[in-house]
Amino acid sequence: MPSLASELRRPNPSLGRRKGRSRSPVARRDGWAAAMEGSVGLPRVYSCSNCGNHVCLHDDIISKSFHGTHGRAFLFSHGRNIVMGPKQDRLLMTGIHTVADAYCRDCGEVLGWRYERAYEETQRYKEGKFVFEKIKIVKENW
Ligand SMILES: [Zn+2]
Repeated sequence: MPSLASELRRPNPSLGRRKGRSRSPVARRDGWAAAMEGSVGLPRVYSCSNCGNHVCLHDDIISKSFHGTHGRAFLFSHGRNIVMGPKQDRLLMTGIHTVADAYCRDCGEVLGWRYERAYEETQRYKEGKFVFEKIKIVKENW
């Protein structure tokens, strides 16, 4: 009868920390990714699909079930390295919203928009949040 000892052995915590593919040289391209590296592990960064500018973090995703002009889109609590266009009212599937287009700061590509104001009470949670089109952002190093 085999002993259960090996089954009950606790995993070595120092081994557990090494999970993930984190040795890509791309991850060290700038200080931002390195600065975020800590007890929580490497940040999962999304970049502009056009120029590679870091524009948002996976951890900031609020919802993946949004729809953009070009298909699926994600709702993020924050955007980075983004330039905002003028505010404008837009009729979306969930009603009228005041939105501003979100441009990549480096290449000027439109990546999505930010909700500036929602008129429906149930949509207020989106105010100040970013929607990035899935097709416009790419996973940086994960
Ligand atoms: Zn760009």
